[in-house]
Amino acid sequence: MKNIAVLGSTGSIGKSTLSVVRNFPGRFKVIALSANSDVHSLCRQIEEFQPSFVCIRDKSAAARASKIIKRTTKIFVGDDGLDQLVRERSIEQVMFAISGSGALSSLVEAIKGGKSIALANKETLVMAGPLIMGLAKKKKVSILPVDSEQSAIWQCLEGENRNNLRNIYLTASGGPLLKKSRAALESIRVKQVLRHPRWKMGKKITVDSATLMNKGLELLEAMFLFDVDFLRIKVLVHPEALIHSMVEFIDGVIIAQLSVTDMRIPIQYALSYPERLPSRLKGLDFYKLGVLNFEKPDLLKFPCLGLAYEAAKGLGTLPCVLNAANEVAVGEFLRERLRFTQISKVVEKVMRNHSNKQNPGLRDIQEADNWARISAQSVIARLS
Ligand code: MG
Repeated sequence: MKNIAVLGSTGSIGKSTLSVVRNFPGRFKVIALSANSDVHSLCRQIEEFQPSFVCIRDKSAAARASKIIKRTTKIFVGDDGLDQLVRERSIEQVMFAISGSGALSSLVEAIKGGKSIALANKETLVMAGPLIMGLAKKKKVSILPVDSEQSAIWQCLEGENRNNLRNIYLTASGGPLLKKSRAALESIRVKQVLRHPRWKMGKKITVDSATLMNKGLELLEAMFLFDVDFLRIKVLVHPEALIHSMVEFIDGVIIAQLSVTDMRIPIQYALSYPERLPSRLKGLDFYKLGVLNFEKPDLLKFPCLGLAYEAAKGLGTLPCVLNAANEVAVGEFLRERLRFTQISKVVEKVMRNHSNKQNPGLRDIQEADNWARISAQSVIARLS
């Protein structure tokens, strides 16, 4: 029986994680949950899983919840509370299903505490990849990716000599706007962007999929997770999203990972690793599949991906700045205060204004993150 903490349990990945756990009652025990402000869903989850610890990040939501939650569950509040929760001794594995950069501090704490990490959050790795991977190595902690592409690459590389790796093919569905013209993108509305053809996900990541920034973040994520030069990571648009990524070796052999498009598959693998457990999901039906398509991404139409390549080349605090500016810009787009095509313009401008610092420590990263957010806000204010 493995004791796990699910951080971000009321979000899309969090709920899928609990659905995996539900299928293996003798195998995983949820002993901690965390949510931002969705007290209603959280209380239902507490009732079902009876965790020993919960954390609610929003203070007023926490005040409301404390009146409902039974005394047998210890409540932590805010970001500091989350840092304390992950230090709890009895937790063996932490599922980071929180999106955004806010997870960085608790991720660092969890690694310091020697917990196994199932990482669905990509922003933290983008911001502080070398620092996180370095710390994990020092603490002998495994970072098990949950992002479907990273899980695919990881599975393709299992048991292989890393020196034999030639290229990684990072696949992208292309998002809901793949077939739109550049001109049409100018007038794209929030509603159209939130209609993703393959994956049902949170709002932030769905917008990132539409701009291809999601693939840019994954490029950086893969570079840090697998310690591969960015030039060897090729982004490949594959609209069917059945090949979740591929790895090419020096002898020209390519290994791909395919499965149905359901996040419960990579989630389950990160929880059960090194074992494989049976899944109740239907397998792929190759007889019905027909054709798989591939194309090169259009960097003129989707400049965010090009910006991510620049950040990968520049390293230092630049990936962190790219991520922070993007978070702000996406937030403003979702509030309909920024046009779709302005997202990349904001990110680009903030990156140009940044004086990059190499080999940053945690403090430098937090400073660069703050700076980029303020800078993005002032760029946006000048745009409108
Ligand atoms: Mg992904």
